[in-house]
Amino acid sequence: MKEKKILVTQPVLPALDDFIPMLEEIWDSKWLTNNGKFHQEFEKGLAEYLGVPYVSLFSNGTLALVTALQCLRITGEVITTPYSFVATTHSLRWNNIKPVFCDIEPDYLNLDPDKIEALITPRTTAIMPVHVYGNPCYLKRIEEIADNYGLKVIYDAAHAFGVKQDGESILNYGDLSILSFHATKVFNTIEGGAIISHDAKTKKRIDNLKNFGFVDETTVVAPGINAKMNELQAAYGTLQLKTIDDSIQKRKEIAHIYSQQLNIIEGLSFLEEIEGVVHNYAYYPIFIDKDKYGMTRDEVYEKLKKNNIFARRYFYPLISQFPSYKGLESAKKGRLPVAERVADEVICLPIYPDLGKEELGRIIECLKK
Ligand SMILES: *Cc1c(COP(=O)(O)O)cnc(C)c1O
Repeated sequence: MKEKKILVTQPVLPALDDFIPMLEEIWDSKWLTNNGKFHQEFEKGLAEYLGVPYVSLFSNGTLALVTALQCLRITGEVITTPYSFVATTHSLRWNNIKPVFCDIEPDYLNLDPDKIEALITPRTTAIMPVHVYGNPCYLKRIEEIADNYGLKVIYDAAHAFGVKQDGESILNYGDLSILSFHATKVFNTIEGGAIISHDAKTKKRIDNLKNFGFVDETTVVAPGINAKMNELQAAYGTLQLKTIDDSIQKRKEIAHIYSQQLNIIEGLSFLEEIEGVVHNYAYYPIFIDKDKYGMTRDEVYEKLKKNNIFARRYFYPLISQFPSYKGLESAKKGRLPVAERVADEVICLPIYPDLGKEELGRIIECLKK
């Protein structure tokens, strides 16, 4: 008999009993979108939870990225990482910006600050780093480079919900940060996203842009887009805020079991926790040294699959290897040695709050061969 399917993730949903009265309220009011009651409540609740001054809700993270670039009028070239989900680079392309891929550092697989400066040209206007797997980028180093060269910084913080460093939200770094609340993320509103900004004027500009550029009934100040979050998602989101701490705690326990059990397997490695950082345990990536472990990453991936365990190779292929980008000078083979190596070694193991001990045991046994 085949064992139960284990997927890489499984979303947490709010209690239906809590959600239904909210739906009734929405049905009564007939206010479905455009900054309604639940939207306002959720924006406020999120800002408080995250420890940030301004949140602008979005229908998804990708439109938040596209709008963040519009808001800061980014043009020309932007330095970014190839080791991420495709939406990071797509958001540049949708703004007619040329992505310039920079290699990642080998410790936490984020943009390597030592390699950024060499890629700056007169056309460079911004840096778009990603806190990959929710591990903070080298924030201070990136800020220093941006300040020296007059560049903007937009963080793709899609993985970094709730992450803090030295007691402060990492979303407070850079000019803007974007979040994703897609069903597969640590915190979900089914689909959804947000931009974190640091002053009221910028928030206003973002809020105009996500609503066609309207500032009042008859005034349109920019070629904005429609990227608004609706009332159903916002209500769902306020409920999610009540259970997120518990969800992250459960993820943490699973991550710790993985780390204890996998530590003793020759040829497998994983990312250590960082001192002073409150992690969210969004992903559990492991890295396979094929010589020491005796199998390639793809062989491990297939073996897990045969055992009904559906791990994912995040992030393989590199964004720079997709047809839309592989012709770029910065995407050429050999230009991104660390990212190229890691993309061939990585596998993200299943991790989600409801992952049971028995299922966890099955995954670990399979890796112990
Ligand atoms: C999920 C994700 C996005 C896109 O967010 P959506 O809400 O799915 O549009 C962008 N960047 C990264 C790094 C992501 O993981």
